[in-house]
Amino acid sequence: MSYRVKEMIYTLQGEGANTGAAIVLCRFEGCNLDCSFCDTDYAGINGPSGGEFSTAASLAEAAYQCWQGDDPSRRILCTGGEPLLQLDSELLDTLHERGFEILLETNGTLTAPDGIDWICVSPKAGEDSVIRQGNELKLAYPQEGIDPEKYSNLDFRYYYIQPISGVNLKKNIRLAIEYCLKHPRWRLSLQLHKYTGIP
Ligand code: SF4
Repeated sequence: MSYRVKEMIYTLQGEGANTGAAIVLCRFEGCNLDCSFCDTDYAGINGPSGGEFSTAASLAEAAYQCWQGDDPSRRILCTGGEPLLQLDSELLDTLHERGFEILLETNGTLTAPDGIDWICVSPKAGEDSVIRQGNELKLAYPQEGIDPEKYSNLDFRYYYIQPISGVNLKKNIRLAIEYCLKHPRWRLSLQLHKYTGIP
């Protein structure tokens, strides 16, 4: 199988429990949803170091070359779009062989292959998550039609509320803070890259 990647960059994770951690960010092309608040350009393969990789080995080699840290234990964040449209066991195995810890950010509507080291689900209104357990549940907030408590029976270690960016960002931050203060299971996640200039 070949893999289509919008961009691959060495950066710091800007959101959620791994905020500030060095990662190779691998943004796969395409998504199976069409959220009104989406702020991600996942179309095409024309971003930095993007392209079509004809094998899992060639993608893993590109990720290996992308890592710039002095730590031999590497970390890759598979995101999108929706990375589970493409991420398969062969690619997971190959990335592990190259020394990568594999982090996933998914909308949760597709099943995930075994072997992912960190699963972050970001559920979307009107879509049931088929991934019901993982490390981190991160909810873009507020979303019409979503009560965060609907997810409280799922099996995640961390629960994050992340204000939706755009013209209502200030209001959404206030609402998110209010929510976290009232429901302490939830923590506030801010999109660090939007405040710091980290790509
Ligand atoms: S699931 Fe994520 S990437 Fe896909 S359209 Fe919705 S917000 Fe955008």
